[in-house]
Amino acid sequence: MKDLVFATSNRGKLVELQGLVGAGVVIQSLVDFPQIGEIPETADTFEGNAELKARAVATATGRWALADDSGLVVDALGGRPGVYSARYAPTDGERIAKLLAELSAVPDEKRTARFVCSLCLCGPAGEVVFTRGSCEGRIGHGPRGAHGFGYDPIFELPDGHTLAELTHDQKSGLSHRGHAFRLMVPELKTRLGG
Ligand code: IMP
Repeated sequence: MKDLVFATSNRGKLVELQGLVGAGVVIQSLVDFPQIGEIPETADTFEGNAELKARAVATATGRWALADDSGLVVDALGGRPGVYSARYAPTDGERIAKLLAELSAVPDEKRTARFVCSLCLCGPAGEVVFTRGSCEGRIGHGPRGAHGFGYDPIFELPDGHTLAELTHDQKSGLSHRGHAFRLMVPELKTRLGG
């Protein structure tokens, strides 16, 4: 069994991945390597940013490293905010208000969108493996629901519920990140022997 460093400081993501991988792989995070600090996301694709972070952490630690990049792709906006989802506006509330304003004249059938998550696993010798998960839906007209984070309150699933109306486990079962994690689990087990 080998260990893995997940290039995140988000405890929720770490717990979700550890739950899927099981006890066979010991997963550390950037909290265990404070000297690495923030890794700038300068690429213009989800895969590019995930690879940049995974390579940086594999190089700094000499271990297997996993990194994710995710965001919201809105068709009526040509794919924006995409990789810039976190930087679209300063706070979750402002990001939601800005997106609703940009889409104010867009009819329901053209409000299609998806969350995308790219994962990159990088080995100590520089070898890389990618997985990608997505979650299809559309942007609603106002926030609904108290769970989740980010754009969840305005992201409507095909059944009409927003992601913020789901429990954590329900969201994990159908989210972009959940899909990408589940595709990565067999790769982790094969390569790290968990
Ligand atoms: P990160 O790459 O996971 O840090 O996500 C980048 C940004 O995309 C976040 O700051 C959110 O604005 C948005 N985002 C990613 N995943 C989700 C999600 O599951 N729900 C809502 N917003 C998300």
